Amino acid sequence: MRTLIENGWILTMDEDMQEYRKGHLVIEDDRIAYVGDVTVHEDIDTIIDADGAIVMPGMVNTHTHMGMIPYRSLGDDVPDRLRRFLFPLELECMNDSLAYLSSKYAALEMLLGGVTTCTDMYYFMDRVALACEETGIRALLGETIIQQETCDAMDANEGLQLAERFITTWKNSRLITPMIAPHATNTNDGNIFAQAMEIAMRHDTMLTTHVAEMDYEMAYFRDTYDMTPVEWLDSIHCLNEHILAAHCIQVNDNDLSLMKRRNVSVAHCPVSNMKAAKGIAPVRDMERYGIPVGFGSDGASSGNTLDLFVSMRTFALAQKNRYQDRALYPAKEIVRIATLGGAKALHLDHAIGSLEKGKKADIILVNCDSPSTFPLHDPYSTLVYGANAANVSDVFVDGVHVVQQRRSRIQLRDVREALEVEMHDFYEAAQRILTGL
Ligand SMILES: [Zn+2]
Repeated sequence: MRTLIENGWILTMDEDMQEYRKGHLVIEDDRIAYVGDVTVHEDIDTIIDADGAIVMPGMVNTHTHMGMIPYRSLGDDVPDRLRRFLFPLELECMNDSLAYLSSKYAALEMLLGGVTTCTDMYYFMDRVALACEETGIRALLGETIIQQETCDAMDANEGLQLAERFITTWKNSRLITPMIAPHATNTNDGNIFAQAMEIAMRHDTMLTTHVAEMDYEMAYFRDTYDMTPVEWLDSIHCLNEHILAAHCIQVNDNDLSLMKRRNVSVAHCPVSNMKAAKGIAPVRDMERYGIPVGFGSDGASSGNTLDLFVSMRTFALAQKNRYQDRALYPAKEIVRIATLGGAKALHLDHAIGSLEKGKKADIILVNCDSPSTFPLHDPYSTLVYGANAANVSDVFVDGVHVVQQRRSRIQLRDVREALEVEMHDFYEAAQRILTGL
């Protein structure tokens, strides 16, 4: 099966940042067979006229919690929301059906917004993986391990067992890459972390966790160990190339130097970090050290939207202001982080993140026909400052045309109706817990 996309403004996002103003791209099965400016019409089964749209690699979301769609817009302004509100509600209401339908909704929301790969840590991960397979999104998924009772495990030991079983089950999947996800540095002790890392190393998977995110986390490590969370991870031999560290808002030069030496990647979540008044991560400094950084939307409870266009724009505003430098992070650089940068952070850049012959056909078309995307002088600038998820018209993942003319294969409305029914008890419990705060 060979599909030709023609008449698009192709942004390859390869190492040379090559572009083709009226380019041609051929998809053969699950791979890119050609990208360039020569007309190719031999043995083509389907032709798609991009009609001036931007053709680019699918975006990579390096941190989210797909099961948290029901929490969107709930208690947004409650201080210490995680411990006072989210954990109790999750323990009471989250179940496998809710996690499945929520993940399906989240996957569709991401695909419709041009995200072709996501990284998720949550519970009931077999159901999350099924939701990803059915919707057609590429995903790195890890069972959350935390030292307290959760909605799918009595304690961290059971969480570790679930996590390893999940890795074994989904190891050879086409779209799913299983990993392991101890919740955070301050919610697991060194022993649990070491066991999670042992599993990650034995199965050669990533380990993702929340790092240097909370004020109380920083105070705990300072008072207990006289260390930062990053130094603590290193002290227990859990800082290495398997780690994808989410947030890293409060990291100093010594942390960054350690992270570079240990080949750690970062999932940067500008929207959720700033919404919660946690600060602006020093991404310019991370990149100066050569640490791979990708964008994360975070869950719908924290970042509200899973739209990476919003992350790109928020990132630009935050970094320029943090460093008081208008020239910092030109739009082209920001689109690179959303695509190839994310792929590198996930160690998947050999397969995705840029449009190059031989790579997986994870491709999106961004149609610049909305009021704020005219005129199209600089496509990168339009993507970062003018476009949003609704501009995405077509999405391919692994060569499969999963969004056509802004319609996903599985209708978002159908999933939303099923989720609404499943949320019956959730609505009641959420109001009761919120009212009691
Ligand atoms: Zn998170």
